[in-house]
Amino acid sequence: MAKLIRRKAYALKDLNLRDKMASKFYRVKCKDCNNQQIVFSKASTQVNCQICGSILAQPTGGKAKIKGEIVEELSYAS
Ligand SMILES: [Zn+2]
Repeated sequence: MAKLIRRKAYALKDLNLRDKMASKFYRVKCKDCNNQQIVFSKASTQVNCQICGSILAQPTGGKAKIKGEIVEELSYAS
């Protein structure tokens, strides 16, 4: 019985770790010029459109606030 509980706890820890390692990116479409660019979901600095300079994402301390339209969500496990 004790063996079973230990294995469960390990599996949960493993899952949490994998969740933390996965980085999400968004393909964001600029509302002003329709340019699409990849924005990191936890961007710590403001992200501007490479074409017209509009704000695409603003840092909030955790997840970045996406200002444009999210076209696609991409995630990579590191
Ligand atoms: Zn733009």
